Amino acid sequence: MNNYKQIRLRKGKDESLRRFHPWVFSGAIQSMDEGIEEGDVVRVVTFSGDFIAVGHYQQGSIAVRVLTFSDVLIDDDFWSSRFRSALQMRLDIGIADNLQNNTYRLVHGEGDHLPGLIVDVYGKTAVMQAHSIGMHLCRKQIAKALAGVMGSRIANIYYKSETTLPFMTADDMSGFLVGGSEDNIATENGLKFRVDWLRGQKTGFFVDQRENRSLLEHYSKGKRVLNMFCYTGGFSFYAMRGGAQFVHSVDSSGKAVKLTERNVELNYPGDERHKAFAEDAFDFLDKVERDTYDLIILDPPAFAKHKSALKNALIGYRKLNAKAFAKIKSGGVLFTFSCSQAVSKEQFRLAVFSAAAQSRRKVRILHQLTQPADHPINIYHPEGEYLKGLVLYVE
Ligand code: SAH
Repeated sequence: MNNYKQIRLRKGKDESLRRFHPWVFSGAIQSMDEGIEEGDVVRVVTFSGDFIAVGHYQQGSIAVRVLTFSDVLIDDDFWSSRFRSALQMRLDIGIADNLQNNTYRLVHGEGDHLPGLIVDVYGKTAVMQAHSIGMHLCRKQIAKALAGVMGSRIANIYYKSETTLPFMTADDMSGFLVGGSEDNIATENGLKFRVDWLRGQKTGFFVDQRENRSLLEHYSKGKRVLNMFCYTGGFSFYAMRGGAQFVHSVDSSGKAVKLTERNVELNYPGDERHKAFAEDAFDFLDKVERDTYDLIILDPPAFAKHKSALKNALIGYRKLNAKAFAKIKSGGVLFTFSCSQAVSKEQFRLAVFSAAAQSRRKVRILHQLTQPADHPINIYHPEGEYLKGLVLYVE
């Protein structure tokens, strides 16, 4: 048994924890020991005082993020055993130690029983991101355990949390915790790309689209492809490898367009099939002539970051998809995504359905896509399912 400070739950509020859901909401709390501070490791007990979980405390609607349902210490061994299990799973399913692909997610928060922590591996560098103050405070201990478990697989650990934490401390939100290499070229399914872990979004690359990009590659032969919201251009260079006639990449950020151009150049130097445009996706689609493209990808940023933005987000998805339906060639294929966790699979599908109906075109669903296996969903935490995609055949 540990002697962490305790949080006692209200009567009956231990039910979801008994089903291993890893969050304690603030409304479930009866009382707290004195002196508990943000980021502290706490012991959660039921109304009658029985142990139920250990986790990180934070102010806000999710008050405790559960690290373990065993009454143990959160020490070096704890972190090492979590990382060993995360790595073992990825070795077992052929994602880690794969020569064709040295880019993968090693730790996916709740999906790897580490709420608040993300670790993406890019070749010899692991990029680590804290989404809770508790993880931030433990970052050095975590990095040490991570380095120990990964051994010679990695040489650097970069910490990147300046955009993910609810407060700003001085200057310790990002920087190398181990090593310090500038070599930032990684490989995904044999394709190369540069990861901007200093300034990029998320950990520098959208690792979660790997399998969906592969699927797109198989649909690209001879096609005229439009990659909307291209960011670092992942879908674009897969389409080129798949034999696309040409690929147009669009992002409203000039920086993203440059990253895309550099990554295309890295794989297909001097290839004139690719052009990139720094433009708003909605404006671009408005201007495009109908039938210009056979294959369109819509992978916008999360339109709803919170439940409160849900209604507008659904309108956004409907409008965006309606524009694509209005312009895609008959016999064309649309890859359309939502990465908003607050939008369910059904709600997203309904928004796309409304867009299709508005266009009055015949539309069939070919594939229903989701996040890859290195972004696992803890079965007790359905909120972990966030990426949704549909591949549609449009007549
Ligand atoms: N498809 C990308 C990830 C997309 S992230 C990949 O596979 O890596 C979302 C991107 O949308 C960001 O790069 C952002 O700059 C861009 N974006 C946001 N709003 C936009 C808009 N209105 N028009 C075009 N691009 C936009």
